[in-house]
Amino acid sequence: MDLESKARSLMNSKPAQVMVITPHPDDAEYGVAGTVARWVSDGKQVVYVVCTNGDKGSGDPNMKPEDLVRIREEEQMAAARSLGVREVVFLHHPDQGLEDTPEFRKELVRLIRIYRPETVATADPYRRYIWHRDHRITGQVVLDAIFPYARDHLSYPDFLKEDLYPHKVREIVLWASEDVNYRVDITDTFNLKLAALRCHKSQVGHIPPPELEEWLRQRHRTMAEGEAFQLAEAFHRAETPQ
Ligand SMILES: [Zn+2]
Repeated sequence: MDLESKARSLMNSKPAQVMVITPHPDDAEYGVAGTVARWVSDGKQVVYVVCTNGDKGSGDPNMKPEDLVRIREEEQMAAARSLGVREVVFLHHPDQGLEDTPEFRKELVRLIRIYRPETVATADPYRRYIWHRDHRITGQVVLDAIFPYARDHLSYPDFLKEDLYPHKVREIVLWASEDVNYRVDITDTFNLKLAALRCHKSQVGHIPPPELEEWLRQRHRTMAEGEAFQLAEAFHRAETPQ
């Protein structure tokens, strides 16, 4: 049996077709939730990985970081449930504290080898100028983890002992990209995206609901410009070398 088929037959593997790796609770809803709803309705299993605990994401001077962590985790769970995401993995790194380290990379490789996704969605690390450091680092480390580290069996010999075998991700889908080459029609899933975003009350609860809806609708209308459909999520998509 080759390593790929061996891995598929092992208990340690919990295959999902799509893995969404988000820097903070809420980024996936802004970036890819309309497409997630489509993947789910196409019968795909989707898993979220949330890299940081979001404990800096509040403008409320009375908010305690430990309370914010709990609130944001609950909000992320609610949003994921509303979209039909199968599972959410929280890595609990501190907000604004991500670094491109061998440990973080290995943590992501481990998850890629456990879930064995065909598609991985994350933040585009190559957005220029003003861009959240956690987004830049998440995107970069995800891309490195996919290729070559998750693919090569000699990358982490210790993983082989844990029955975590090499895996080739087929495609990457990057949100917030300045180099868009792929647009997904979210006209029919826009309301699900909006509802998922509204689960993040600590982030959007201060915006009057009609204002949030109009802002989001306009944002996705703009992303659909030139297409035959009304509302889109826009990405940079690439296939990984096989
Ligand atoms: Zn973020």
